[in-house]
Amino acid sequence: MRVDTTLAGRVKIINPSPTLAITAKAKKLKSQGRDIIGLAAGEPDFDTPDFIKRAAIDSIEKGFTKYTPTTGTVELKNLISEKFKKDNSLDYSSEQIAVSCGAKHSIFNSLMALIDNGDEVLIPLPYWVSYPEMVRICNAKPVFIRTEAANNFKFTCPDLKKSITQKTKVLILNSPSNPTGCVYTEKELAGIAEICVDKNITVISDEIYEKIIFAKSQHISIASLNKDIYNQTITVNGMSKSYSMTGWRIGYLGGPKDIVSAISKLQDHSTSNPASTSQKAAEAALSQGEEFICFMRKEFEKRRDYACSRLDKIKGITYARPEGAFYIFCDISRTKMDASAFAERLLEEALVAVIPGEGFGSSSHIRISFATSIELLQKAFDRIEQWMNKI
Ligand code: PMP
Ligand code: GLU
Repeated sequence: MRVDTTLAGRVKIINPSPTLAITAKAKKLKSQGRDIIGLAAGEPDFDTPDFIKRAAIDSIEKGFTKYTPTTGTVELKNLISEKFKKDNSLDYSSEQIAVSCGAKHSIFNSLMALIDNGDEVLIPLPYWVSYPEMVRICNAKPVFIRTEAANNFKFTCPDLKKSITQKTKVLILNSPSNPTGCVYTEKELAGIAEICVDKNITVISDEIYEKIIFAKSQHISIASLNKDIYNQTITVNGMSKSYSMTGWRIGYLGGPKDIVSAISKLQDHSTSNPASTSQKAAEAALSQGEEFICFMRKEFEKRRDYACSRLDKIKGITYARPEGAFYIFCDISRTKMDASAFAERLLEEALVAVIPGEGFGSSSHIRISFATSIELLQKAFDRIEQWMNKI
């Protein structure tokens, strides 16, 4: 066995993804016959629609099984360019677009292209588990912007200003957010944009949950607000959440030409193109997927409403109502347990899997995913309620 000291420093300072690990643990326990209900998963539970699968099968049968251009086929980039225009009022030519192996890869490549040793990257806390680790892999420093549950976990302009130093290079924005479901308004984004332009901070805007947004909330791309912020923003999106295509591994980004060209070089020498078949599937999704998105969004809203109505009745848990994505970030501090202990006991004693908040930057919260059927949610909340009454 290799001894630990032979490993590079960059891997010694990072942790495995807790979201992936706990989801895998819950699946394993289930496969061993334990009656676990998983509220941990960070992916829609719906099957990928048949017309998308069909497009992929057709592409294989027609022999579309070779390398494509590194950052995606012309056809797919044209569809992405149209999508950015139609949904986000953003003009990105194909040279400004890079298709990668998931939005995670797009964000990683963006950071690799932008930050040097010692640079600081601003990340609102709570954050999606991978952001700080990606920054650390790049030998840079994650700097967390504090938020308050009372403001739906959104940071304010004064919060942002306080976190900026001479070394600040990038801000990672995520709206709708994982794990809180908060959505920034146009006015809030305008304030953030003004500061970033003034301080010359590049924004990586992770918009992967764009299509899962509820009631009166509206998704706005920060890059669409004005030319200045457009010139210093990378807009990241992907197929995983909008079309229930997490396993296909297609993400994409739009941004300034010089950054996209640097990302293309990184991809040339690391992954090359994302899977050719998945690109064909993504073309089908982008051109015919509107109906599926509508269906999924409505389902998620029903589940959000149901989950919140159950949480309202459980003493000891408080939360901010999510406006998007499919997570509820619950404050469990009144139980006097830290999140890891809470999640472990909940799994062992009530057979419900959730993600403890430590990986998102808070030991007093757990993340509940409502990407599961109402029937299972009902069963899960019955168990949580009974268990909470006992402890
Ligand atoms: N950003 C956020 C906030 C996410 O929750 C996820 C989910 N894994 C991703 C990016 C990455 O998605 P993917 O790589 O599957 O496109
Ligand atoms: N983004 C999802 C989550 O937060 C998927 C897991 C991951 O990629 O970390 O659970």
